Amino acid sequence: MFKLPDLPYNYNALEPFIDETTMHLHHDKHHQTYVDNLNKALEGHDDLLGMEISELVKNLDKVPEELRIKVRNNGGGHFNHSLFWEIMAKNDTKEPVGEVKEGIEKTYGSFDEFKKKFSEKGLGRFGSGWIWLMPDMTIVDTPNQDSPLMDGKMPILGLDVWEHAYYLKYQNRRAEYIENWWNVINWEKVEENFKK
Ligand code: MN
Repeated sequence: MFKLPDLPYNYNALEPFIDETTMHLHHDKHHQTYVDNLNKALEGHDDLLGMEISELVKNLDKVPEELRIKVRNNGGGHFNHSLFWEIMAKNDTKEPVGEVKEGIEKTYGSFDEFKKKFSEKGLGRFGSGWIWLMPDMTIVDTPNQDSPLMDGKMPILGLDVWEHAYYLKYQNRRAEYIENWWNVINWEKVEENFKK
C-alpha cells in the first residue's frame, strides 16, 4: 500500500509565502486523495502495490491497461507531491548551491534569467500541471499529474501550478504565487537530487 509521507517541516514553516491552511488542504486532502485513489485502483495487485512510487510511475506499461489512466493520474499525483514537499523548506539559502548553481549559470547566464524562464513556463502552462527542472538543466512542463519520470527522466525540482496549490492565498494570481515560491526552495535538496 502507498502511504502519504509526512511533511518534512511544520505546516506553517513556509509562511508567509505559502500559508498554513493551503498546506493542510494540499497535503492532508489533495495528496491524501491521490494516495487513496491509487491504493483503491490497485486493489488486489500486490506486486504493483509493493513497488516504490518512482518505479511504478516509471513503469506504467506494467499496469493493466484498464487501470492505467487512474494510476497515471493518482500515481503521478503521489510521486509529484512527494517530490514537491521535499524540495521546499523554510529557507535562508535563496539561491542554488553547488553543481546546480554552476549548471544554471552555465545554461542560463544567471540565476535571475533562469527564474524568469522557469516562471514564464509556469505562467504559460494552460490549466493544471507542473514545471520541472531536469538534471540537464532544461525546463520542462507537464499537464495534469504527468511527470517527466513517465518518460524515464527524473526531475530535480518541481513547481505545482494547479490552482489548489495557491488559490486560497493568491486567488487567480499565479504570477504572484510563483514569485513567492522562489523564497521557499530547498536548494540543498535540489543539489542532492542532482547528485543522485
Ligand atoms: Mn498539488
